Amino acid sequence: MAIDTSALDALREQARTRFTALVATHGGAVRNQRTDVDGEYPAPLWEALAQDGLIGAYIPVEYGGLGLGLRGMAVVLEELAAADAGDMVPILSTMVAAPLVRHGTDALKREILPSIARGERRLAFAVTERAAGSNVFAAETQAVRDGDSYVLSGQKHYISAVDLADAILILARTTPRGPDAPPGQDGSDMAGFSLFLVDRESRGLTWERLTLPRLRSVCQYAVDLRDVRVPASRRVGPEGAAVFAVLDALNVERILIPALVLGATTWLLRLAVAHVNERRVFGDVPLGRYQAVQHPLAEVFLRTRGLRHLLDESTASYDDGANAFEVSLPTAAARFIAAEVADAALNAGSDAFGSRGFEADIGLLGFAQMVRLFRSAPVNTPVLLNFVAEHHLGLPRAS
Ligand SMILES: Cc1cc2nc3c(=O)[nH]c(=O)nc-3n(C[C@H](O)[C@H](O)[C@H](O)COP(=O)(O)OP(=O)(O)OC[C@H]3O[C@@H](n4cnc5c(N)ncnc54)[C@H](O)[C@@H]3O)c2cc1C
Repeated sequence: MAIDTSALDALREQARTRFTALVATHGGAVRNQRTDVDGEYPAPLWEALAQDGLIGAYIPVEYGGLGLGLRGMAVVLEELAAADAGDMVPILSTMVAAPLVRHGTDALKREILPSIARGERRLAFAVTERAAGSNVFAAETQAVRDGDSYVLSGQKHYISAVDLADAILILARTTPRGPDAPPGQDGSDMAGFSLFLVDRESRGLTWERLTLPRLRSVCQYAVDLRDVRVPASRRVGPEGAAVFAVLDALNVERILIPALVLGATTWLLRLAVAHVNERRVFGDVPLGRYQAVQHPLAEVFLRTRGLRHLLDESTASYDDGANAFEVSLPTAAARFIAAEVADAALNAGSDAFGSRGFEADIGLLGFAQMVRLFRSAPVNTPVLLNFVAEHHLGLPRAS
């Protein structure tokens, strides 16, 4: 997919201007890293994303988006985070839109994608179950075909932003587990699963907030499905072969989270540099004069350059149509290095700020929470390494 780099440059400029103005106008209400602000999802943030179509940067032009691929969406997320307004909600909608674009029917795309691009519809993603945990394809939620519908039953756990979403992409088993399952579809591999786009207001679907700390305005939920009837037209991709669509969604998350980390690190560096240029504690010399203070910040800056290259490789691979397994190597590298970059930035930033860094309005504590989260979810680092060892090094599958 050819994407005009001048269009991406223009998008970056537009996003930077808009998000900088957003934070200047609304301050703590839209800032990401504040841990002392708790409340409703900030309407001005969503308006900024929806106006000018920024939320639809990834969505193809024929479905109402800007058609700038994941390259475009990564630019939007990076600039959002660089303005300290980084947010998971646009990532969730894009990671659901992506399997729709690649595997959905034209009718489903026409129904769903334009409303995402206009900011009228938000989406959530539900694969995780409490018992299955990292072993996504040990999920027990079932979908049973009944005429023109499927009937879904089961429980999903840790699902983000259900309260903000209009529909949820849900992974369910369409081939029953157990000894009677056809060979290769007994739960020991990834076959036998399907994906469904389920309206949040469907009869039989309920959700309950979990006790995880609110990440600004995004919370996690347990979702209960009791005989939820979903039209067969809402199945995304072929029955029993959801693995590629799921990996497409997870690859998008592994691209956009590094974009968010890159932007947030840029924000933190800017803040830390301004602080050490200002702060004087021993005589009339700014802290930034000491090499012991300069070097960790310079190292983080260099690491962000490496992360940008990995991000460029990942987005190009995805946008150019590489399949889910091909994309998985650059995205795994981007996600792994993003976690390292964020760790280094947290340490360098904390050292630069000292005690001041623990004051909630600075935002370092929120950054720390984000850094830790991205090591555990959506994919935890050990499981990412298992995948690389098995599929890219030819080592035995981890048990
Ligand atoms: C804030 C938040 C938001 C989330 N949002 C969503 C969402 O929107 N949608 C969704 O579907 N899910 C969501 N999740 C779920 C998340 O993706 C899962 O929690 C994650 O995939 C891992 O499952 P688990 O935490 O149950 O870890 P477990 O499976 O219990 O594993 C615990 C730890 O054991 C180690 N481990 C596990 N397996 C292996 C192995 N094979 N080899 C080596 N080490 C291993 C890892 O260190 C892992 O962190 C969210 C979770 C959080 C915390």
